[in-house]
Amino acid sequence: MILQIVKYPDPVLKKKAEPVDKISKEVFTLADDMIETMLSNDGLGLAATQVSSPLRLFVINISLDGDAPKPMVVINPRIISQEGLEVHEEGCLSFPELYLNIERPQKVRIHAKDLYNENAILDATGLLARAVMHEIDHLDGILFIERVAKIAQEEQEKILKYLETLSQNK
Ligand SMILES: [Zn+2]
Repeated sequence: MILQIVKYPDPVLKKKAEPVDKISKEVFTLADDMIETMLSNDGLGLAATQVSSPLRLFVINISLDGDAPKPMVVINPRIISQEGLEVHEEGCLSFPELYLNIERPQKVRIHAKDLYNENAILDATGLLARAVMHEIDHLDGILFIERVAKIAQEEQEKILKYLETLSQNK
């Protein structure tokens, strides 16, 4: 079943997800519907938050070469490590037509559970790492527009500090 995707500024998008403690039949159905919804919208990933579910899970299409889609269900993800930084354009199904340059790690390793409650380690680089981080952000109630604001704010602080140094050196 194709689910309704919540669009910004719906407050649901700011909710922090709750860990999945049991992989019930409902979780299976939700994951299945989320995959269908992601693929029918040409999305790279979709977080449960975006379909009004409070559960900490997302789906991602790990086939990046345009071949047959390879959807993957990621439950209770936790970031183990991240490396490097890269700025690239990204979009979000909750913000149709908006594409923003966002800084993300080049490489991430996450720990998660799959639908069979098995522990899984997911290593992702480039576009896939970007998608993983974007979806984990959704589960934490963080939107990509806030990532831009964060960089801008950090740069602003650097400028202010620089100007302060200039005035002190006078
Ligand atoms: Zn998104």
